[in-house]
Amino acid sequence: MSVHTEDTIVALATAPGIAAISVIRLSGKEAIGITQKCFKGKDLLSQATHTLHFGTLHDNGRTIDEVLVALFREPNSFTKENAVEISCHGSPFIVKEIIKTLLKNGARLAEPGEFTKRAFFHGRFDLAQAEAVADLIHAETDNARQAALNQMRGGFSKEIDRLREELIHFASLIELELDFGEEDVEFAQRDDLRNLITRIRSVLRALIDSFDQGNVIKNGVPTVIAGKPNAGKSTLLNTLLNEERAIVSDIPGTTRDAIEDEIVLGGINFRFIDTAGLRETSDVIEAIGVERTRDRMKKASLIIYLFDLANTTLEEIDTQRRELAALGIPHINVGNKLDKADPLLLEKLKTEDFTFISAAAHTNVGVLKEKLLAKVQVREVKTGDVMVTNLRHYQNLLQTYDSLGRVLDGMSQGVTGDFLAMDIRQSLHYLGEITGAITTDDLLDNIFSKFCIGK
Ligand code: GDP
Repeated sequence: MSVHTEDTIVALATAPGIAAISVIRLSGKEAIGITQKCFKGKDLLSQATHTLHFGTLHDNGRTIDEVLVALFREPNSFTKENAVEISCHGSPFIVKEIIKTLLKNGARLAEPGEFTKRAFFHGRFDLAQAEAVADLIHAETDNARQAALNQMRGGFSKEIDRLREELIHFASLIELELDFGEEDVEFAQRDDLRNLITRIRSVLRALIDSFDQGNVIKNGVPTVIAGKPNAGKSTLLNTLLNEERAIVSDIPGTTRDAIEDEIVLGGINFRFIDTAGLRETSDVIEAIGVERTRDRMKKASLIIYLFDLANTTLEEIDTQRRELAALGIPHINVGNKLDKADPLLLEKLKTEDFTFISAAAHTNVGVLKEKLLAKVQVREVKTGDVMVTNLRHYQNLLQTYDSLGRVLDGMSQGVTGDFLAMDIRQSLHYLGEITGAITTDDLLDNIFSKFCIGK
């Protein structure tokens, strides 16, 4: 996907489907001219930037709809190109007719992410900021929103650029040495270089470590409810989800038809994975489910393990806890059916790390929620916080860290400048790819093809 910025592109910018209003977006040299060809109202070509115009949209004399046209003249638009946003009535049919007419008059359909890609090409923001635009649109919690906003505003990019500049300075000194070849000069003081790289690596390490939190904030916590058949797993899942749904549907207009199996607690999205099995209540299926339970648990970052307090022996609990510990995944031991618990068992478990609930009666579910949050330990994201939320950035930071590690090793082994230069160049490359100071078509394809059309 190379960029043809000569073309004028068009796409629906709002969600498809019936709505009060839909917005169709055009960008490119001819955006205003093409719109004018189908528009009756004021002469758009003579209107100033950032103005709004009421009129009708036509196809060969047939009026399609009454619309509002917003005009943006280059470079004062999102893409820095001429751009138009047509607000029409939100009917999928009308949208299709308007887009068809615009295509007939010289626009072409935008590719996924092409508006953002153009904004990137024209220098509106760098690659990490472009990716943050997508994150912001997909943000489902306040922490995710704040983290994306910080990244979109360039906090993270600035940090990367600063590191890169420092490295470039030293790379150039080393390269200078190479130019002098045999003469055995050292422009780059080895001690200074070692200190600089150690310092840069410690900044990188902090960024790399922030991904633990960043990833949770952006992608939520894949959580599994596990336990023997009849322990009450599906009852607990329903209790957790229904409590959240009850809150959501109390707010007028927020009832959603299809809610995924997730709950937001303290700004963190707990995504219950592999819940399909839990919805099948047949015990026959559960009987073959031991292996499946193990597979399921391995996919989780957090496990809620349910024990049936009315029907479990201490031995079983011990065995299960050993298995859980062997998995090495954070987990919460939960004793369910508190209402009909075996008193002896309860007495024995009281001193252990157990949460006692009744999923059916909603007893202590709040305590369980607090335990869930405590396991994740994510602090609130504040304005200006720099953290890594993007897997691509994380991987590049790791690669940078490693190649700088090789520079340090090389220096302690006394290798020559040309070898050092190679690893420094490599680390500059990895850092540069994060913000797009260095790009390849593949890299850009990979990033922008994940965007939707119209973004
Ligand atoms: P799963 O096989 O682990 O998904 O278990 P279910 O959620 O289907 O529950 C099995 C049975 O235990 C059902 O009859 C539930 O109504 C019952 N159950 C679940 N939670 C509780 C509870 O807290 N107390 C009592 N008394 N029964 C419960």
